[in-house]
Amino acid sequence: MPERTPPNPKNAHEREYWEGLARHQLLLQRCAGCRFVRYPPGLSCPECWGEAFTWQPLSGRGSVVSFVWYMRSLDRRFPEVPYNVSLVKLAEGPAIISNVLGVKFGELAVGNAVRAAYLDDRGFTALMFGKA
Ligand SMILES: [Zn+2]
Repeated sequence: MPERTPPNPKNAHEREYWEGLARHQLLLQRCAGCRFVRYPPGLSCPECWGEAFTWQPLSGRGSVVSFVWYMRSLDRRFPEVPYNVSLVKLAEGPAIISNVLGVKFGELAVGNAVRAAYLDDRGFTALMFGKA
C-alpha cells in the first residue's frame, strides 16, 4: 500500500474534511452563494469567489473517469506494484485523484461505479475508493 503524506495541520480550512474522513464520512464544502461543491477544500469558491460555505456530507458514490497503472515503483513510498491512480468523478460533481482498492491489473475500466473507502493509516484517514 502506498505510504501517505499526513495532512498539514496548518491548513485550518481543511480540518473538517480530515475530521470527516476520520469518522469515515466524506464532507466537502458547498458554496453558500452558487451551491458549487468544491474539492480540494479552499478559502473561496472557484466558481463565484464567494467565501461562505457549509460542509456537505456526500454520498461517496462516483465513477472512474480515467486511471493509470504503475508497473514499477519509482518512489520507495510506493513499493507494491502494480497499483492504480484513478480520477473519480463524484455523483455530486467534484473529481478526485485517488486509488481504487481491491482491483487487480485489468479489472479497472472507465465508467466503473465506485464508492468511497477509508484507509486509516498512521494517525489519519485517506480517502480511497472501491468498486461499488
Ligand atoms: Zn460559489
